Amino acid sequence: MSICKGIARKRGRNPIGIFIHNDAGSKNANYAYYKNWLPKHNLENGFAHYYVCSDGTLQAEDDSNMAWHCGNEYGNTNYLSIEVCQSMGNLTTFKKNETKALKLAAKLCKKYGITPNSSTIKLHREVYPTGCPHRSVEIHGGTVSKTKNYFIKKIKEYMGDKTTTDSGIVFTYAVKLTDGTILPSVKNTNDFAGIRGKKIAAVSIKVNKGKVKYRVHVLGGKWISWKTGYDFNFKNGKNGYSGNENKAIDAIQIIYTAPSGIKKKVKYRVSSVNGDYYSWQIGTEKTNGQDGYAGNYKTAIDRLQITVK
Ligand SMILES: [Zn+2]
Repeated sequence: MSICKGIARKRGRNPIGIFIHNDAGSKNANYAYYKNWLPKHNLENGFAHYYVCSDGTLQAEDDSNMAWHCGNEYGNTNYLSIEVCQSMGNLTTFKKNETKALKLAAKLCKKYGITPNSSTIKLHREVYPTGCPHRSVEIHGGTVSKTKNYFIKKIKEYMGDKTTTDSGIVFTYAVKLTDGTILPSVKNTNDFAGIRGKKIAAVSIKVNKGKVKYRVHVLGGKWISWKTGYDFNFKNGKNGYSGNENKAIDAIQIIYTAPSGIKKKVKYRVSSVNGDYYSWQIGTEKTNGQDGYAGNYKTAIDRLQITVK
């Protein structure tokens, strides 16, 4: 059940666009704040589907429900709403939140088949007398049209990033759980491999172009030797997958060698059981705060994503 419990009712069809808001909240109005505040707030005074903050993104209402976010019936009925939070605080923090919000908008556009343009990506002040989104307008040229153009351009760019089909490189991968269940394979970021809350025991990976090798780290144990094969049935332990029987794993490393002339890398991430994803890891790089592997020794993982960078 969502925090706002469908109070504005079900939409009954897919959203046709997205409103980008600024919350005009203080720097302290972050994820933790909204999570606590929204259930006590009189929702008739307004709420949005998503609150994008420096400490996380809060989904306060399901996409399939409406939200009272823009004071305009058509907008409330047909559009999703994203609040870029901490808009009264530090500019760097706000800009980071805005980027995250636009990436989220890109994901939602893909999910619902929304083409970003002037009628699908909307600002609150287009339909209601408000300064919202005050900070975004201020930093993107001072007008509605300039701000919208920036949003649309970025959302389109982020939608492109996700497809990664320009190179045609596709990673196909599957996982086996500690209870022995083998889950269907997935490709790139079309989905993730795993089930939230269920520990992963083994991984199998292949790629359609170039070469991939991989290994996993057993929880409380060590790294298993590198594997290059792919065996969706998880029977060929010699080379078809990486894992030690049904023991939980806590980290993974992947090395990708692209065909000559193609400058592409592998990018992957895992999430702790019932937790959030850790940062993306590129190959075995250790620059920019990367660990050289995805995961965290001593914490079992439940989801895996692999794609092209
Ligand atoms: Zn607004």
